[in-house]
Amino acid sequence: MNKDIATPSRTREILQKHGFSFKKSLGQNFLTEPNILNKIVATAEIDEHTNVIEVGPGIGALTEHLARAAHQVLAFEIDDRLIPVLADTLSPYDNIKVVHNDILKVDLMKETAYFDQAGPIKVVANLPYYITTPIMMHILESDLAVDELVVMMQREVADRISAKPGTKAYGSLSIAVQYYMEATTAFIVPKTVFIPQPNVDSAILRLVRRETPAVEVTNEKEFFKLTKSAFILRRKTLWNNLLNSYGKDEAKRAWLETSLQQAEIDPKRRGETLSLEEFARLSNALEANRQG
Ligand code: SAM
Repeated sequence: MNKDIATPSRTREILQKHGFSFKKSLGQNFLTEPNILNKIVATAEIDEHTNVIEVGPGIGALTEHLARAAHQVLAFEIDDRLIPVLADTLSPYDNIKVVHNDILKVDLMKETAYFDQAGPIKVVANLPYYITTPIMMHILESDLAVDELVVMMQREVADRISAKPGTKAYGSLSIAVQYYMEATTAFIVPKTVFIPQPNVDSAILRLVRRETPAVEVTNEKEFFKLTKSAFILRRKTLWNNLLNSYGKDEAKRAWLETSLQQAEIDPKRRGETLSLEEFARLSNALEANRQG
């Protein structure tokens, strides 16, 4: 087996050889602890049938661990300076394709034509923290049905994504993700295992796709609009937030009132107390009562 990229000494050696300097604006914090990488691969339950998508391979620390366990790995890296580095560090592996592109601009359906064998598709990544949420939503909303994501992010964002109703961390992001996926925090990663060290601890979040969305809604777009509206001002009641989003005229008030009644939801409650089921009930009532 090749010498691990992810040790502090080898990482420094690679950075020096290529004269690489970190760009904070690209969220570059590289992992230098092989034990953490082994734990990530174990959490994702990757085997020789798994096709893996990686976001931001950096110098290839996680990529090589994925390549050792998986069938194939498709990695997207935005930083052009890292492309020759990756060609060097990953040269011992023939089951990796590095694509130089912004993950947010990538058509995942098209790119995954690289996988030459059917099998579960999993996203495994140490995400750039400045765009964690847009990346998650880009992947979840893509036509490609990713089976599982095992992704590292700031602990606070992982807490928000996996939060349950009635907690401080629960919000529209929790709902947007939990609608598609079962979310659990797998383990916490201390900031000391990165070069350079980030300011906060990180967490590995595991998301497994549900066979069908968590709740049945008649109009997904409107459901997500409703869940966003309910949290615009967290300290306001559901009623006040809905008036602000949907309009305050007589007809709108009547429409909101009837729908809340039908869904059996007290307008004085706050958005953070509503479960996914209650949001779905309200969204479906709003749709059913919509006029024109
Ligand atoms: N996977 C490496 C590791 O664990 O050591 C590096 C992880 S580092 C937190 C994030 C990586 O994502 C960097 O290599 C950065 O250049 C890359 N990146 C940042 N924005 C990106 C984007 N929009 N699309 C693709 N890669 C991006």
